[in-house]
Amino acid sequence: MDLILLFAVAGGALYLARRIQVRLRLSRAKHPSLAGHARISRRLAKQVPFYEYTDDEAFDLDGAASNVAARRREAFDRLAGKLGAKSPITVEQTAELESSISDMQFTNANRVPFQFRNRVRKAFRLGALADKTEGVKIRNLDGNWSYDVGGSYGVNLLGYHFYKDCIDRAVERVRDLGPVLGPYHPLIGENVDMIRQVSGLDEVSFHMSGTEAVMQAVRLARYHTKRSHLVMSTGAYHGWWDGVQPGVGHQRSLNDIYMLKDMSEDTLHVLMTRNDIACVLINPLQALHPNSSPSSDAMLINSKRNACFDKQAYADWLRQVREVCTARGIVLIFDEVFVGFRLGQGGAQEFFDVKADMVTYGKTIGGGLPIGVLAGRADLMKRYRDDRPADVSFARGTFNSHPYVMATTNEFLKVAVTVEFAEQAAAAEAIWNARTAEMNRRLEDAGVPVRVRNMSSIWMFVYSQPGRYNWMLQYYLRAEGLSLSWVGTGRFIFSHNYTDEDFDAVADRVVAAALAMREDDWWTVPEDVTNASIQKQVFREVIAKRFGRA
Ligand code: PMP
Repeated sequence: MDLILLFAVAGGALYLARRIQVRLRLSRAKHPSLAGHARISRRLAKQVPFYEYTDDEAFDLDGAASNVAARRREAFDRLAGKLGAKSPITVEQTAELESSISDMQFTNANRVPFQFRNRVRKAFRLGALADKTEGVKIRNLDGNWSYDVGGSYGVNLLGYHFYKDCIDRAVERVRDLGPVLGPYHPLIGENVDMIRQVSGLDEVSFHMSGTEAVMQAVRLARYHTKRSHLVMSTGAYHGWWDGVQPGVGHQRSLNDIYMLKDMSEDTLHVLMTRNDIACVLINPLQALHPNSSPSSDAMLINSKRNACFDKQAYADWLRQVREVCTARGIVLIFDEVFVGFRLGQGGAQEFFDVKADMVTYGKTIGGGLPIGVLAGRADLMKRYRDDRPADVSFARGTFNSHPYVMATTNEFLKVAVTVEFAEQAAAAEAIWNARTAEMNRRLEDAGVPVRVRNMSSIWMFVYSQPGRYNWMLQYYLRAEGLSLSWVGTGRFIFSHNYTDEDFDAVADRVVAAALAMREDDWWTVPEDVTNASIQKQVFREVIAKRFGRA
């Protein structure tokens, strides 16, 4: 009896030790930053109180001399006045809309670190209305043209004229059928053939947004593997479904996601040893900033933002992930909604030379209209079982395969499958690497602490000296005639119809903006200021505010 008890206790202890070991391996595969710990960061985020800097504090937070602070203050007002005066009609009409468009309120509240939010919002009244595009430029309601570097969130790959033509032709082609849903317009067959060709996968489903394509991919992976968990990279964005958003900004607590380190042996070990993983979801854009979230100027409290795109290293990483997934029966999904055709005709699969089991597309593939596409292996795309009729994976959407969207998509794909497109897409990487190098050379020559990092035609700005006011650069860039998206210098997205002349014009403006910002003393920072000291200062402010010690 004693012996049995002994065996039972020993068995229990072994089981417990094994469980602890597995749990520790999982913890080790999480990125040590807050971004790697979704639950903790969500809890902490809820505790951060709102506070803002007073007039006296706002301009010398880095301990700058009083004459420097005075110049910054004067520059702030001058720049705000200049931007507002240039586009009064656009600003006025935008302001009228803001109180009833919640999306606009959200973006306007999140352009700069929150401590500056009210001050900036009041002074810099931005226009969010436009009525015309031509070439790489966009016109606001006051007739001012600016260079579009927001790229319609990545939709605009080939230039707005291209998508205008797609839409015009598409309307003609499906006019006789009209907006019929249920029966398909026959051109859907050509779309399927072309998507199979570029993806190298067997079957296709059509959705209304990138978010939905990702939802479908993840659901199917769970359905077929009968496993619960999704693995995604730290900080990666996959659309606004909270099922792929374990971190800040989402309320639901998730127990079916592991958010793990990119480019890490620890992650490979987890994939190799756990039995609950259905799929790995990869957003290839993470190659530009592994293990961090997409950058936005709202988070730019110091100059820690960094990026380092190493194509070979990321390709090696993806190859290893591919091998483990194959060995363990885990579905490898590439989310190419953003980078899709931008990286090449065959997308990230071709760019990194790694095959996925499923690929999502969106944005540009729709030829200017809203879409999400999932391509996958036939065995993974099936939504019912022959031997279990009631065991289905239900997914239908009213507007799936809308004839007008199918027709614009067809117009895009007809171009995307051509040899010329393949050649141009392959050449884009070298062109944008050269342009990025040129931009950095010019910034270095100008002696400003700003650089750009790129993955093909996607840019993010980094700052080479500690600073509290880098987020101001977005307003200097706007004043120079660049049209930025709401994340400011966190992301520039260029369309591939940018000529060398267009690019030079943008580069001139970036240099002019940075020089003006330097001239106005935003980067005149006392020598003892470091990124760590800024971070500590902000942390202390938050704690003091939260616990009532002002
Ligand atoms: N996946 C990725 C990689 C994306 O970049 C995006 C959109 N930025 C989405 C999914 C979601 O697409 P949509 O906004 O069309 O829902």
